[in-house]
Amino acid sequence: MTEYKQDSPLLLGVIGDPIHHSKSPAMHGAALAALGIAGAYVPMHVKPEALEAAVQGIRALGFRGINVTIPHKVAVMPFLDRLDESARDAGAVNTIVNDNGILTGFNTDGIGYVRSLKAEAAPDLRGARILVLGAGGAAKGIVTALLREQPGGVVIANRTSDKARELAEACQGKGVVAGIGQAEIADAVQQADIVINTTSVGMYPHIDDTPMDTQLLRPGMIVSDLIYNPLRTRLLLESLERGCMIHGGLGMFVNQGAYALEYWTGLPAPTDVMRRIILESLGGN
Ligand code: NAP
Repeated sequence: MTEYKQDSPLLLGVIGDPIHHSKSPAMHGAALAALGIAGAYVPMHVKPEALEAAVQGIRALGFRGINVTIPHKVAVMPFLDRLDESARDAGAVNTIVNDNGILTGFNTDGIGYVRSLKAEAAPDLRGARILVLGAGGAAKGIVTALLREQPGGVVIANRTSDKARELAEACQGKGVVAGIGQAEIADAVQQADIVINTTSVGMYPHIDDTPMDTQLLRPGMIVSDLIYNPLRTRLLLESLERGCMIHGGLGMFVNQGAYALEYWTGLPAPTDVMRRIILESLGGN
């Protein structure tokens, strides 16, 4: 990646379908202001059929960086010039860096999540036995990033059990990983130190849903949820009542954005400002 030198406004943005709900523009806008960088971060509604043209537009318009969100994280990959190892491992791209027309795809979701988990709940993951609920796009990046921390083992449980087994298979050689179906969660929890929800179950507006029976949890376990709206999901609230340590998805969101901003600018991201703006926009719910 070439070093970024500002001789014109820094153009950044996010593409997705839909995009109006994204909190990235507010977060990155505040970060640019805090860094004293002249520029803008704009939300762009890109339909799947316009994705290739939109990627061409990054080069044509001189955008330095783009975040990619649902449903484009996988579909965007063939249109890029290079893929960082993080994107190849996760099989998805959430950040694009434009170096003079050369577009490189990164995935900062996994490293953003692990940075947050270590900072807020589990400083050392070596030897930890981890149960991951869900095997979707977010789980892919997270499992790979977790395996770099040398955990004792990772078990992936998913409603569609084949997807859990496929993800476990794809991770062979990187650590001890197994894939199971939802019916086997009760047994798997008994062997786990950390439970991580990567499913969308419990996300606003379906806040009364929970991805597992929390009666299975033991005091002292760490329970983590990628969801940050609400900040405390039903899973986390019930885990707290069971005596577990809880960790929500806000730190992951801030850190995935912080890594992206650092790739685009080469400057340390103002994570306190970024966190504050998201908390304000969520209105404490
Ligand atoms: P995704 O690719 O659509 O995957 C969704 C996952 O949830 C799949 O494993 C799916 O299981 C499971 N699931 C959905 N509904 C279910 C239900 N009713 N019962 C059981 N399992 C169900 O989505 P994703 O991109 O991985 O995102 C997942 C969650 O992570 C979302 O809530 C998202 O907001 C959150 N996330 C947070 C951050 C952050 O920065 N904090 C970043 C990325 C994602 P099947 O395979 O069986 O369908």
